Amino acid sequence: MRITFLGTGTSQGIPVIGSNHPVCLSEDHKDKRLRVSVLLSWSDYSFVIDCGPDFRQQMLTHEVSKLDGILFTHEHADHTAGIDDIRPFFFRQGDIPIYAHERVIASLKQRFDYIFADANRYPGAPAVEVNLVEKDKPFKIGDTMVMPIEAQHNRLSVLGYRIHDFTYLTDVKTIADDELEKIKGSQVLVVNALREEPHHSHFNLREAISFSEKVGAPKTYFTHISHLLGFHKDVEKKLPKGVLLAYDNLVVNL
Ligand SMILES: [Zn+2]
Repeated sequence: MRITFLGTGTSQGIPVIGSNHPVCLSEDHKDKRLRVSVLLSWSDYSFVIDCGPDFRQQMLTHEVSKLDGILFTHEHADHTAGIDDIRPFFFRQGDIPIYAHERVIASLKQRFDYIFADANRYPGAPAVEVNLVEKDKPFKIGDTMVMPIEAQHNRLSVLGYRIHDFTYLTDVKTIADDELEKIKGSQVLVVNALREEPHHSHFNLREAISFSEKVGAPKTYFTHISHLLGFHKDVEKKLPKGVLLAYDNLVVNL
């Protein structure tokens, strides 16, 4: 499986609009971060986890011409707002499978009612095939099983996903011990690390490092990064062995 980091930024992306923060002004391509998402590709399959506001640009950059489905972590706009741009895939392929918790589907139905409408559909509106995900129920995408993992984003529960030896978790602040057990043995872990200062709903750098130690994966990549975390090249130097900062367009092969 090939994992492509489509976006590694927090909700506003980097640069933040109108910001004069040095990280927002950085010329280093590793300091430019679109909203968080990954592309999972293997055999002839392509799936994404989340589709935020930068989805269209991410699909164009990586020349994705077929999309087999979208796995959602939760309903926040930085993870879902790009769903209208599944249209080109829908026109070629038909209904696009989406995988999400029931609560997330309810939120999408409210905000993108035309995508889910049964009657009087607007010509040109995309359609989806809904697949409900529950935390302890593994499901299949393509020819591969996925184990959902539940974590807490302040008071909102979010889902992460384990596929073979790869685990992707974002927007985590706390996680129960039995969910942590599901992640152990992963070879590659992706998890959020927002900034140095504490935050009410995200791991800060220290919490993300301590979580990566608990999981003990040989390789951990941090994502969902704020400009407040600092320059990519400086932050990398502070990280323990086997822990790396992800950056946009990074490709990891498993
Ligand atoms: Zn987020």
